Amino acid sequence: MNVFNFFNGAAKVYGIIGNPIEHSFSPVLQNSLLDFMGSNGVYVPFKVDENDIEEAIKGLFKLNFEGINVTVPHKKSVIKYLCGLDNTAQKVGAVNTLKRTNNGFVGYNTDIIGLEKSFNINKIDVSNKVAMLIGAGGAANAVAVLLAQMGASDIIFVNRTFDNAKKLKNKISSFYSGNVHITDFEEMYNYNKPYIVINATSVGMGNGVWESPVKKEEFFNGVEYAFDVIYIPWKTKFLSDAEKYGCKCINGFDMLIYQGIASYEIWHDITIDKKSAVDIKNVLSDFFLNGGGDK
Ligand code: NDP
Repeated sequence: MNVFNFFNGAAKVYGIIGNPIEHSFSPVLQNSLLDFMGSNGVYVPFKVDENDIEEAIKGLFKLNFEGINVTVPHKKSVIKYLCGLDNTAQKVGAVNTLKRTNNGFVGYNTDIIGLEKSFNINKIDVSNKVAMLIGAGGAANAVAVLLAQMGASDIIFVNRTFDNAKKLKNKISSFYSGNVHITDFEEMYNYNKPYIVINATSVGMGNGVWESPVKKEEFFNGVEYAFDVIYIPWKTKFLSDAEKYGCKCINGFDMLIYQGIASYEIWHDITIDKKSAVDIKNVLSDFFLNGGGDK
């Protein structure tokens, strides 16, 4: 037997709530960060039913949890059980990170921080450019807020359910003065070439790995960047089609890693330096590409 001494009775406890939760990479990411940073802490996954969210949050607070990540489907519904929201979370209308305070948990949205970091690393500059955003769910909300904040001249929303796109458009319009358009999977090809096309739907992952939300792949001709928030598979059909037409292609892995690093920084009140962040990302991507992400 080995003596397990990664954490002891004084350990700070962190976790993630979602449903399903089995696929989540966050326990690997956050426990690796705790180890890398030499923190006495542990991070555990919890499957929480939508009807139990209030009790779960109260219980996690009573159990002295320092920080929680929140994933699908609780990112919006959890908000009413928090004692506060930071500005970005308020804008996005969804949280993925909770930090303990004396009065309860405060909500943050680090998806948008991870996304912005990924844009910066890949030198994506949408200011005064046309962006096409496919999807209107949780991830798309973060993308839309970032595109608006970065000053895109136009945002073209493409979504299966018109009402969801309309809600997102209305939300953005309250603080964004650029042009907004809503279209569907038939009409999207009639727009002039956008600078960037972003897939923020779940089309292309899970059982649909051979699917892309862009059915006419030649649409990518002349598009500069294709960005997919999905990271399993590493290269979706959306990205491999875009690559054939010379687009610069980025998947959701950097976004995933940097949203996790941002959560860690919020919980621990620290800034992880650039080099350490890159080292952490490289170790985790090696692990992930060698099958660790499927565990
Ligand atoms: P949501 O359930 O909130 O939204 C799903 C979106 O996909 C909706 O716009 C929905 O359209 C659309 N959609 C689903 N199925 C179809 C379909 N068959 N055809 C067309 N559109 C469809 O999910 P999230 O936004 O939370 O997650 C979306 C993706 O983003 C997931 O793959 C997730 O793993 C990834 N993600 C990645 C992150 C990262 O760090 N890289 C962070 C968060 C999410 P409709 O409105 O019509 O239902």
